[in-house]
Amino acid sequence: MRVSFLGTGDAGGVPLYGCDCVACLRARADATYRRRNCSALIETRTTRILLDAGLTDLTDRFPPGSLSAILVTHFHPDHVQGLLHLRWGRGAPIPVFAPPDSEGCADLYKNHGLLQFQALAKFEAVTVGDLCITPLPLIHSRPTFGYAIEDPLGARFAYLTDTSGLPPRTESFLQAWQPDGMAIDCSHPPREQAPRNHNDFGRALDCLNTAGIGAKGGAKGGAKGGAESGAGWLTHLGHDFDQWEMGNPVKLPAGVCIARDGETVDLRGRLNKGAAQ
Ligand SMILES: [Zn+2]
Ligand SMILES: [Zn+2]
Ligand SMILES: [Zn+2]
Repeated sequence: MRVSFLGTGDAGGVPLYGCDCVACLRARADATYRRRNCSALIETRTTRILLDAGLTDLTDRFPPGSLSAILVTHFHPDHVQGLLHLRWGRGAPIPVFAPPDSEGCADLYKNHGLLQFQALAKFEAVTVGDLCITPLPLIHSRPTFGYAIEDPLGARFAYLTDTSGLPPRTESFLQAWQPDGMAIDCSHPPREQAPRNHNDFGRALDCLNTAGIGAKGGAKGGAKGGAESGAGWLTHLGHDFDQWEMGNPVKLPAGVCIARDGETVDLRGRLNKGAAQ
């Protein structure tokens, strides 16, 4: 499957409105450092799923019929605000899978337009096209699911944001599942006290370790070098994380990298590892 990081920022994004820190100045000078609202696109030959809908230009990016479904992690505006515009369109209904949340966001449930909301249940897998998707509960300020996504060739990708650490059952699932790739919330630079709703850098690495990614003593190299034990991407990054990272260039564990808007990766599963492609 192909994974494209459409946005890798926290709710305020980078550059943050009105901020003149070094990270925000850099992002204003060079658009490759911008971070839009966190979202990703998952593609196989037959299926195309948008993970979160916080980008406000969805109607330009995705013409009618171009998405099999939208998967929503939770109903905070930075993850669903793009739906407020998309819903008024014409064409076939778009399935929108989400955690059970009685409120949703604004009047999305009441005036859903094109959108067909369907609540998922934790750990109960659903099939969308040729992808198998398992919702994994996370720890956040409202009901939130991460998603474990597997393609027909066995490639496994976990998308886990927003969260502060992981609940024990989600940890056990990931330990057994051993994803080939995993994107994890890393909103903050290292903090002594655990942030309430998001990971800091250290806790993001702990979550990856749980899934067998970036463990100490692993193979050298970047995401590709550590591919045997899976690759990890830090995402949902805030300007204070970028500012910290610019001042403290860290050597990331093998296989772990800081995601960038527009980055695309092809994940290969166990069933076709080593096969010519
Ligand atoms: Zn968020
Ligand atoms: Zn800033
Ligand atoms: Zn959130």
